[in-house]
Amino acid sequence: TTTLRLDRLLSNLGYGSRREIQQMVRAGLVTLDGEELDSADQRIAVTRDLSERMQVDGVPLDPPPGLALMLHKPLGVTCSHKEAGLLVYGLLPLRWRHRDPAISTIGRLDKETSGLLLLTDDGVLLHRIISPRNHVTKRYHVTLDRSLRGDEAAVFAAGTLLLEGEEKPLLPVQMEALSSTEAYVTLTEGRYHQVRRMFAAVGNHVTALHRDRVGDLALPDDLAPGEYRVLSDADIALVL
Ligand code: URA
Repeated sequence: TTTLRLDRLLSNLGYGSRREIQQMVRAGLVTLDGEELDSADQRIAVTRDLSERMQVDGVPLDPPPGLALMLHKPLGVTCSHKEAGLLVYGLLPLRWRHRDPAISTIGRLDKETSGLLLLTDDGVLLHRIISPRNHVTKRYHVTLDRSLRGDEAAVFAAGTLLLEGEEKPLLPVQMEALSSTEAYVTLTEGRYHQVRRMFAAVGNHVTALHRDRVGDLALPDDLAPGEYRVLSDADIALVL
């Protein structure tokens, strides 16, 4: 476990400048295991259970660094730190925007795609999940404009499909038809607008796209659009 000075820990979590943290500590607002901490320069072991043990102004500490989240991404919000409009980061608590290390999405979903989006402040975890070498699968529920022809599953599974403007064929994609205009597709790659472009390549058009699984981690039924949840180690193990 790493240790951090109390003022650095709290300022990195967005609670204020180090000077403001020093004032909060002096005012007796920061407790550990129920005891008021009296010095902002004491070192704190940054353990996963710190939110259960430390309180700031009577409220459990925000999740310490090494955080992973799942968010039910609604339609119409963008996976970007920069663009104008509604951003997925705007669905998280305000203070979390000031965290260092910052929280980023693990891959992206299009603005007009809904469903399971993972986020983390852990660069190693992010890399492990997005690295094509680890073959983390992503499952999408697809709704189509026209009826399936019947050969799509075979075309996608062949590993020879070329998307418009690309030179490298897609890796095999598994498709399971659910009705004449609905299917699950499971990918390991994540090329730009991949699912929409795959169906365009077979003469169809995606009218709704929703991701419901990453690896074996499913979007829980009780996580409403716009809501998020902190992932446990067991949840993360399901992804990888
Ligand atoms: N494929 C798409 O076309 N869009 C997404 O958001 C994800 C996969």
